[in-house]
Amino acid sequence: MKLKIALLGSTGSIGRQVVTCVERYPERYEIVSLSACSNAALLNEQIKRIKPRVAALENAEKASLIGDIPDGTELVTGENSSLKAVLNDADLVFVAIVGFAGLKCVLKAIEMKKNVALANKETLVAGGEIVTRLAAENGVEMIPVDSEHSAIWQSMYLNKNTSFKRLIITASGGAFRNVPIEELKNLKAAEALKHPNWSMGPKITVDCATMVNKGLEVIEAHWLFNCPYDKIDVLYHPESIVHSLVEYDDGALIAQMGYPSMELPISLALSYPERLAGPPRIDLVGKTLHFDEIDNKRYPCFSLVKDSAKAGGNMPCALSSANEEAVGLYLKDLISFTEIYEYLSYALDKTPLKGADYQTLVETDAAARRLVKERFSNKH
Ligand code: NDP
Ligand code: MG
Repeated sequence: MKLKIALLGSTGSIGRQVVTCVERYPERYEIVSLSACSNAALLNEQIKRIKPRVAALENAEKASLIGDIPDGTELVTGENSSLKAVLNDADLVFVAIVGFAGLKCVLKAIEMKKNVALANKETLVAGGEIVTRLAAENGVEMIPVDSEHSAIWQSMYLNKNTSFKRLIITASGGAFRNVPIEELKNLKAAEALKHPNWSMGPKITVDCATMVNKGLEVIEAHWLFNCPYDKIDVLYHPESIVHSLVEYDDGALIAQMGYPSMELPISLALSYPERLAGPPRIDLVGKTLHFDEIDNKRYPCFSLVKDSAKAGGNMPCALSSANEEAVGLYLKDLISFTEIYEYLSYALDKTPLKGADYQTLVETDAAARRLVKERFSNKH
């Protein structure tokens, strides 16, 4: 029996790598549905090649770019069409959508009792409390795809019932890790997108440069591994070979190492508990590994994300959604790199602390985006 996969966000960096991993083992996997937002040209190609039962395109204005569709494929378009790609007969819902938009898809998959391979970290940042509770109530497995969380998950395989002392998440430092701090404000998005180790979508690549990404990952780890924040540390590790570690009470550090490519965590999320050949391999001969503390002066956003986590409730959602908007402005070169921090700080200050039920999160998401847009139009 093939594993039937609903692939949400198929046109993105992660989504395309899921397709690669699936096509390597056609006897094991079948993609039954695809979803995309605006990249109709690529979705069109994927539809022709994969022949899914359902293909969803959020941006209906782009639907005319989809040509003839194969018999047996249904095309759905418009806002929330991704939800229709969560099919009843899927065994696994792979959520590779970016941003808050992933949350409703994850909740839908859980409601339909589908296991979730979760690349979209913003889902757990905003909705970790409801997602983990509902997943447990519905017997749904959340398989981590983010490389650090996959590494922690792999490092716990043999020690499932052993309590651990702390989790150590590694951080590459992003594109600007060696730039003098006083020059950061002048650096444009095109520079931030040149990540030294990883090839990823634009939003997460900027998040690496600001270290917002690592803050989001701390929150993600808190929910995935039910781990208090004071037991999660982050270490700067510029080589991106050790993807994260678990420290046990006897001092043992169990890590997962490998070539910095998302293909391994994606492949494992599909084949677990088996491991399949295919992802790129690394030769350790001649490699040197460094670890250091995070430089809080260089990465002020990192502390801000952690502050939102400590505040709890809807605050991580506000931070994450404000960040989506601010990064969107930076990617268009409308604000400077260092202004991202100011926008996040402003949005957090203006957000009243509330609970984290779904309706509050939807309102918080909208309000945080509004705050960023308002501040931008007042300043420009
Ligand atoms: P990309 O920007 O490359 O891709 C995002 C995908 O989501 C695209 O398919 C896009 O469609 C779709 N999408 C965007 N907005 C919406 C929406 N409102 N509704 C439905 N679909 C939407 O991102 P990445 O692949 O880099 O990242 C995806 C997620 O995985 C993020 O949460 C990221 O943090 C996480 N992640 C990514 C890693 C990486 O290596 N890339 C590593 C670890 C985690 P379209 O292209 O058609 O507009
Ligand atoms: Mg990561």
